[in-house]
Amino acid sequence: MIHPESKDRETISFGDASRDIWDIVVVGAGVSGSIAAREAARLGSKVLLVEKATLPRRKVCGCFLNANAVASLAQLDLTPLLVASGAPAVRGVFVAAGRHQAYLPLPTGAALSRYWLDEHLSLEAMAAGASLLLRTEAHLAGVDSDCCRLRLTRGDEEAEIRSRIVVAADGLAGRLARETKGCQQFINPHSRVGVSAATSLVPEAYQPGTIQMVVGREGYIGSLQVEDGRVEIAAALDPVAMKRFGPGETVRRILHQSPLPRFEDVGELTWQGTMPLSCRTSPPAGERIFFVGDAAGYIEPFTGEGMAWAIASGAAVAVTAHEAARHYTPDLPRRWIAKREHLLRGRMRLCRLVTQSLRHQRLTELNVALLGRLPFLAAPVIRWLNRPRPNPSGPRR
Ligand SMILES: Cc1cc2nc3c(=O)[nH]c(=O)nc-3n(C[C@H](O)[C@H](O)[C@H](O)COP(=O)(O)OP(=O)(O)OC[C@H]3O[C@@H](n4cnc5c(N)ncnc54)[C@H](O)[C@@H]3O)c2cc1C
Repeated sequence: MIHPESKDRETISFGDASRDIWDIVVVGAGVSGSIAAREAARLGSKVLLVEKATLPRRKVCGCFLNANAVASLAQLDLTPLLVASGAPAVRGVFVAAGRHQAYLPLPTGAALSRYWLDEHLSLEAMAAGASLLLRTEAHLAGVDSDCCRLRLTRGDEEAEIRSRIVVAADGLAGRLARETKGCQQFINPHSRVGVSAATSLVPEAYQPGTIQMVVGREGYIGSLQVEDGRVEIAAALDPVAMKRFGPGETVRRILHQSPLPRFEDVGELTWQGTMPLSCRTSPPAGERIFFVGDAAGYIEPFTGEGMAWAIASGAAVAVTAHEAARHYTPDLPRRWIAKREHLLRGRMRLCRLVTQSLRHQRLTELNVALLGRLPFLAAPVIRWLNRPRPNPSGPRR
């Protein structure tokens, strides 16, 4: 279902949200949260989706929906949404390291800004029956025998709400992991940090439908032209270089080492940043709370899979949360952990391996030189990463 207009579209007032006991409260209306809310509502749960920002909003992301993400959206009957967005098809990636470059064909994905995608996924959640609160921050206040208590704040307003189950989809910088008894958030101290900006000054030689990646000593950068014609530039940068030069200058330095088309205005763009990119919540579930998407764990964006993981795990957690809201048993957190591992572990391991090897500039240059001559060598890995998953929320009702 398509929803063109979306201003001021909350379905419930801040005060009314605290009157009911919810089956499921989903914290965070990014990709994983909106998918989880939509799927749980479609199963029949009474769902509240809480987002601290307004929507639409920009978000640090390379905006590449890989073939896997596109297939998962299709399994969830969301292909019409993708078609309506006008997202250009993406069929390949140019990778440059040092003076070497390679073009690798990819199974067809799409280039869609998070400004468009996140807003429309939240509208899909509402169309399925979920209620939405924007500009509202949620914090875990406590867990009772039959429900969780969440504290909601919006400006000076404050309310406490109750929910049988909480789905924590609050992203990399989310705080729910630290607020959950028995859960800890681990951050890789050598992790890079994410930045992104959009430009409408597109170089003439820029090729739409192709991701342009540049790997340098101070990090790597991906750029992609999205549905509104702008190019989204996203990067994972060495925090030391970032501190020294700032995001725009670090990106410019890396780009200028490469033979790919240059963006003349990188220094003047408005850059948004993230906290360190490699982190995980352990365990990714607690009593009556399940973690999903980046809130459960994230590695680095090089293989362009974060949204595919978020969509698949968002749909999968909806089934577990729906069951838990109906009849909670203490083994459910463990079952969610096992389900998530089954869904993502192999892909995350490969992503970790790739991102670790990118730290060795000489090795990366040799690999790119090799792939420049023999691009088919990358095909098995690309195929494996994009292999379709079984529908994570089960057969469609
Ligand atoms: C530089 C970079 C480039 C990337 N490029 C790609 C790419 O090209 N392709 C790809 O697939 N993935 C990419 N990713 C990864 C992708 O962006 C993430 O994996 C994805 O956004 C995860 O979605 P999520 O829903 O789990 O979290 P998020 O999208 O981060 O959503 C979390 C939401 O929770 C909200 N929130 C947080 N705390 C609270 C609170 N207390 N109360 C209420 N709301 C709260 C936030 O405002 C936010 O809207 C990239 C990431 C980075 C950093």
